[in-house]
Amino acid sequence: MTAQLINGTELARSLRADVAQQVTELKERHGLVPGLAVVLVGDDPASQVYVRNKVRACAEAGLHSELRQLPADTTQDTLLNEIDELNRNPAIHGILVQLPLPAGLSSHAVIEAIAPEKDVDGFHVSNAGLLFSGQPRVIPCTPYGVMKMLESLNTPLRGAEAVVVGASNIVGKPMAMLLLQAGATVTLCNSKTRDLAAQCRRADVLVVAVGREGIVNGDMIKPGAVVIDVGINRGADGKLHGDVHFASAREVAGAITPVPGGVGPMTIAMLLVNTLEAAQRSLGTQPETL
Ligand code: NAP
Repeated sequence: MTAQLINGTELARSLRADVAQQVTELKERHGLVPGLAVVLVGDDPASQVYVRNKVRACAEAGLHSELRQLPADTTQDTLLNEIDELNRNPAIHGILVQLPLPAGLSSHAVIEAIAPEKDVDGFHVSNAGLLFSGQPRVIPCTPYGVMKMLESLNTPLRGAEAVVVGASNIVGKPMAMLLLQAGATVTLCNSKTRDLAAQCRRADVLVVAVGREGIVNGDMIKPGAVVIDVGINRGADGKLHGDVHFASAREVAGAITPVPGGVGPMTIAMLLVNTLEAAQRSLGTQPETL
C-alpha cells in the first residue's frame, strides 16, 4: 500500500483564500482590517525566516502586519513595555512573540503579558485553560492546522485510537486535547514512554511532534493509519526532514503528510485564521468557522 499524500501546501492555500475573502468582507462591512504584530528579539536566522514568512502571508491575505524587531540584548522590561503598547493598540488584534527568546528573557512572563484575546498563538494560560476545559477561544496554530487536515480527509475521530508523540505545551498537549474533544481515545507519549513502537502501532491517527529525525518508522505504524508528521529537522544532507521515516512509513500508512509541504504551511494559515477571528471577536461577533 502506498499512502495518500496529505498536501498541506494546497490546503493552506485554500484556507488563506477563505481568510482573504473574510478580511475583504470585514473591511467592507465594518471598516476593520485585522492586524498582526510579530515581535522578534535577536537575530536567530531560522526565526527571521519564520517571521518573514508570517508577515508576507498576512500581506497576501489583506491583513495589516507589523514586524517589531528588537536587538538580542533587549531587557525583559523593554520587551514587556513593547507588549503593553501592542496590547493597547487598536489596530493590532493579534500579537505573536517569536520563540525561542534569547537567554535571559522569560518566555513564560512575556506570553502571560500578552492580552489573552490578542494571543494568536494560543499559548497564554487562560487560552490553554479554556482549551483544556472544552471552551476553546484561541487554539494553538499547529494543532489547529492538524485538525483541519484531519477534517479535510474526513478522518473518523470518534472512538479512534489517537497517539500523539511529544507532549510540549505548544504542540503535543493541545493536540491531545483537541483529539480527545473530537471523541478519540488519546495516548500522549513523552521521552519517558517505555515502548514507543507498541504505543504507535495502536494508532489509527498518529501525530508525531518530537524534533528527532526518523523517531517513527514504517514498522511502528498500523496499516492504513493516518500519520501526521509535525517535526522539522535539518538532516545531514542539508535538507528538511520530519520525525517520521517517510519512505518506510509511506508503504504502510493510509495517508501521510510530507515534510516540507505538510503541517508547516498549515501552521501559518492558522495564524491568519486566529488573527481574523481575534479581529471578529473585537467587534463582539462570534467568528465564523472557516
Ligand atoms: P519540544 O518542546 O522540544 O518537545 C518535544 C517533545 O518530545 C517533549 O514532550 C519530549 O518529551 C518528547 N520526546 C523527546 N524524546 C522523545 C522520545 N524518545 N519519545 C517520545 N517523546 C519524546 O518540541 P516542540 O516545540 O513540540 O516541537 C517538536 C517538533 O515539531 C520540532 O521538530 C519542531 O521544529 C516541530 N514544529 C513544527 C511546527 C510546524 O509548523 N510544522 C510547529 C511547531 C513545532 P518530554 O516532555 O519528556 O521532554
